[in-house]
Amino acid sequence: MPTYEYKTKAKNVIDPAKNEYLSRPAVITKIKKLNSDVKHFSFEFPDQLPFIYKPGQFVQVSIFGLGEAPISITSSLEVGQGLELAVRSVGKVTKALHELKEGDEVFIRGPYGNFFPYQEYKGKDILFIAGGIGLIPLRSLINSILKQRQDYGKLWILYGSKCPADCVYIDELEKWSKLDGVEVLLTVDSATEGWKGNVGVVTTLFEKIEFNAENTIAYLCGPPIMIKFANVALEERGMDPSDVITTMEMHMKCGIGKCGHCALGHKYCCTDGPVFSFAELKTLGAEE
Ligand SMILES: Cc1cc2nc3c(=O)[nH]c(=O)nc-3n(C[C@H](O)[C@H](O)[C@H](O)COP(=O)(O)OP(=O)(O)OC[C@H]3O[C@@H](n4cnc5c(N)ncnc54)[C@H](O)[C@@H]3O)c2cc1C
Repeated sequence: MPTYEYKTKAKNVIDPAKNEYLSRPAVITKIKKLNSDVKHFSFEFPDQLPFIYKPGQFVQVSIFGLGEAPISITSSLEVGQGLELAVRSVGKVTKALHELKEGDEVFIRGPYGNFFPYQEYKGKDILFIAGGIGLIPLRSLINSILKQRQDYGKLWILYGSKCPADCVYIDELEKWSKLDGVEVLLTVDSATEGWKGNVGVVTTLFEKIEFNAENTIAYLCGPPIMIKFANVALEERGMDPSDVITTMEMHMKCGIGKCGHCALGHKYCCTDGPVFSFAELKTLGAEE
């Protein structure tokens, strides 16, 4: 049972599933530091209404008086993790979130956006490529796919970060690496003493794996420069751009296709994305 005391005054709770504009209170039940500027937050909803989402979707987190920030869902309902987010402290809202303690309250709208297609790829080998905090949205998908492990072929998880201290979810990467048919390869741009993984950008890990491009689906999440070079390397290895799937992090405000801040060609990142295949991004002129 949660130990916090719920203090929100709202009495007549409207079902947020019926109103996409509605924020609902969410109480922080657990905080874990992932690295020097990223924290993992677990939440509970005092209204006790269900919160249903899919891997790849995001929420708008608001802190009164400061504003909102779109944040990807990192948990997976498939494994019953409730709602978990991981946030890098970069500005107004995210810094304020990092100041909060367990038991404090934020407001959450969503879930919004489309999601990673994966149920239709049963039988395929899966290649996850993550850079830095790109592992945050992919973690949701990885755990969902691992829940149905027998339905998929071989799994590779390639993860790159700037230095060993920047890696997030290192304990989970280790856990995943011990699973049958799952290969986890780590790389850093610059190593420190004791580092046993690869040194170099994430695409240098491609040389260490053998995959059949015709039977593989690749999911990429990371900084734009990583996405760009990983996509080129995947095409060189014969991957079809429609089998390479990524998420786009555009500046956005409303999250529901009203404000136009996140226009991507004739689409909106918030409602048509944030998940796009490279084939789609090419038609939008946004593949770089
Ligand atoms: C769909 C989506 C999912 C996201 N998921 C996550 C996540 O899981 N974890 C996470 O830590 N972050 C995530 N982000 C990024 C996050 O939304 C921004 O870092 C956040 O909005 C910053 O808000 P702030 O008020 O703290 O910063 P602000 O005070 O608004 O800005 C601080 C600085 O960061 C810049 N900035 C703000 N937002 C962005 C942006 N989207 N792209 C580039 N520069 C920006 C500003 O220009 C400014 O220089 C996601 C963004 C999107 C669109």
